[in-house]
Amino acid sequence: MPQQPLLPVGEARARILASLRPTQTENVPLSEAAGRVLAEEAIARRTQPPADLSAMDGYAVKAADTSLTPARLKVAGEAPAGGAYTEELKSGQAVRIFTGAPLPRGADAIVIQEDTAREGDIVVVQEAAAPGQHIREVGLDFRTGDPGLPAGQKLSPADIALAAAMNLATLNVYRRPVIAFFSTGNELVPPGTEPGPNQIVSSNNAGICALVQEAGGEPLDLGIVADDEEAIREAAKRAGHADMLVTLGGASVGDHDLVQSALTPLGLDIDFWKIAMRPGKPLIYGRLGEMPLLGLPGNPVSALVCATLFLKPAIQRFQGGETELHTMPARLGSALPANAAREDYVRATLDHIHGELPLATPASIQDSSMLSVLARAGCLIVRPPHAKEAKAGEIVTVLPLRA
Ligand code: AMP
Ligand code: MG
Repeated sequence: MPQQPLLPVGEARARILASLRPTQTENVPLSEAAGRVLAEEAIARRTQPPADLSAMDGYAVKAADTSLTPARLKVAGEAPAGGAYTEELKSGQAVRIFTGAPLPRGADAIVIQEDTAREGDIVVVQEAAAPGQHIREVGLDFRTGDPGLPAGQKLSPADIALAAAMNLATLNVYRRPVIAFFSTGNELVPPGTEPGPNQIVSSNNAGICALVQEAGGEPLDLGIVADDEEAIREAAKRAGHADMLVTLGGASVGDHDLVQSALTPLGLDIDFWKIAMRPGKPLIYGRLGEMPLLGLPGNPVSALVCATLFLKPAIQRFQGGETELHTMPARLGSALPANAAREDYVRATLDHIHGELPLATPASIQDSSMLSVLARAGCLIVRPPHAKEAKAGEIVTVLPLRA
C-alpha cells in the first residue's frame, strides 16, 4: 500500500468535487420536483397578473368621483373572479368587484367594501380613493420571458408554486445520483434482528441511507458484507451502474480492513487515503473502473461526520448545485484544549440565544463510536489543525447539523 501524507480536509473535498460531473438531466412533473436541482433557467410562459386586477373585495371606481365624501355612485354591474364587467365605467358609476377580477375599463381605483355602505343600487363611498389603490398591475409578479428560477436552484415549495404560476407543468432537473453502499464487518447484523455473541447492530447502513436521501441522492443499500475479500468484491460488483460506491468500514490498517486489498484486483485506482481530520482519519477516495469510490471509516460517528463533509457535497455536485458547507460563528460554551495536527470536528450542542451568537457547548465525551452524542449534537465545532486552547466565550466556527 502506498504511504501518503495526511491530506488536509479542504483539499480532500476539493479533489473529490473536481473529479465529479453532474448527472444527465430529465424532465419531471411538478409533483416530483420538490428538492430536485434545476438544470436550466425556468422562464415564464405567461404574464402575471395577465391584466390589471382588483386586490380586494369592494367597488371599482373613478378616484376623482370619490374626492368629496360621502360619494354616492350608481352600481352599474358586477365583476367576480373568473368573470369581468365588459362595458366602460362612466363618471358617477361603480362596479361591484371581487379579489382577482379584472379592473373595468375607465376605473382607476378600488374602494374596499369596509369603506362603503350599500343602499339598493347605490353605493355610498365613505373614504376618498387614491388613483391606483388596491390594483395589482398587469405583470406585477412576472412577465412572459422573465427568468423566474435560476439553474442550480434546489427547488422549494415556493419555487414549485412559481413554476406552476409561470405555466410550466414540468421542470428540467438533474437525475438523482444513485449512491450504492455496503458495510463490512463480521460483527454486524441488520437492525431488528438478534445479534449473536460478539455481534452488534449495523447503524451505518441506515444512517448513510438517510443522509443520501436528505442530500437528494437515491440510495442503493447493498447490505452487510463479511470481512472477506471475495465477498467485498462481489458486493462491489452489485453496485452496477451507480454514480458512486461508498464502502463503510474496513478502510483502516487492521488485519481485517480489507477494502483496499479486495478491490485492487478489480482495478481500484486510489487518489488518496487518510486525511488530516478527527474523527475519521482512514478515508479512501479513488475510482473503481469508471465509478468513483469513497471508503468511509466504520465507526458510526466517523462515518456520518465524513459523509457530511465529503459525500453530501459530492451528491450536490452530481446535481449541479452548490457544494458549500454552511459554517457560521458561535460562542463557545465551555473551554476546549489545544488541537493537534488533525482538523477536529467536535460534537456540540447549539443553543440559539435571542440577539446574540448561538452557544456551542462541546459534549464531554468525543468517542467516535457514540451515536447518542452525535444525535444530541446540534453542530460540529470546526477546530483547525494546531488551534490554540479556547476559553468559554470565545468565538468559534461551527457546522450546524440540523436545518
Ligand atoms: P472498521 O472501520 O471496520 O475498523 O470499524 C471500526 C469500528 O466501527 C468497529 O468497532 C466496528 O465494529 C464499527 N462498525 C463498523 N461498521 C459498522 C456499522 N455498519 N455499524 C456500526 N458499527 C460499525
Ligand atoms: Mg471492520
